[in-house]
Amino acid sequence: MPELPEVETTVRGLARFLEGERIARVQVNRPDLRRPFPPDLVQTLTGARVTAMGRRAKYGLIHTDREQTMVFHLGMSGRWRIEPEKPEKHDHLVLETESGHVLALNDARRFGSVDLVATEALDSWGPFAGLGPEPLGPDLTPQHLKRAFSSRIAPVKQLLLDQTIVAGLGNIYVCEALFRAGIRPDKEAGRVSLPALTRLVPAIQSVLSESIAAGGSTIRDYAQPSGELGYFAASWQVYGREGEPCTCGAPVLRFVQGGRSTFWCRRCQR
Ligand SMILES: [Zn+2]
Repeated sequence: MPELPEVETTVRGLARFLEGERIARVQVNRPDLRRPFPPDLVQTLTGARVTAMGRRAKYGLIHTDREQTMVFHLGMSGRWRIEPEKPEKHDHLVLETESGHVLALNDARRFGSVDLVATEALDSWGPFAGLGPEPLGPDLTPQHLKRAFSSRIAPVKQLLLDQTIVAGLGNIYVCEALFRAGIRPDKEAGRVSLPALTRLVPAIQSVLSESIAAGGSTIRDYAQPSGELGYFAASWQVYGREGEPCTCGAPVLRFVQGGRSTFWCRRCQR
């Protein structure tokens, strides 16, 4: 499932083909993904110039000079195919730029989405309203987490997955960040000290940045015919390593928390 780093990598990959370009042709091959395509999608995007690209949480943003932003979510299986040699079955939306680049949004399971949102009103758009700060932005601070966790007895890991506290963090990244910061995943959030939170913020940011960099290193391949914005397998220190030795020598442990696997080291995380 595409996580924040994959979405960021996708956005950067797409930007090379879309930013500053005019969209010459828009083809919609079915009525819906998770929800219907906007009825005015083709009309709004055809002839529009892409002014900038961005990301909010796990959504990609394609800003246009029509004062509308196309917002996409990759769901479980979504991916953009760059300059596909031939159409594939699940290419549900195809964009062609004035200079002839072809970009196909392929989503076999159709848990993804495409919306058009007034650029000016993005912050108050349903899925974005109430989102916490971006983990890589300036608003994620130890003080923000201290306030958000204040007197909360829920486990710190569970609250880090709460999108109203931090936007876009997934299970893998939270497990790895807590390991790097030396914080037990099941510790009561309200009892995590400010010094620990001061370690946690850069831990979150470095885990994400390193994943983005790992994905970014494959960007040069994207321009190849039939290239796609592939996802990368990073090597994790605890995630998926139950029973293997931690860097300290103790075995990595796993337990199920809120329906998801948590991986951690009893010796390194307190
Ligand atoms: Zn350890």
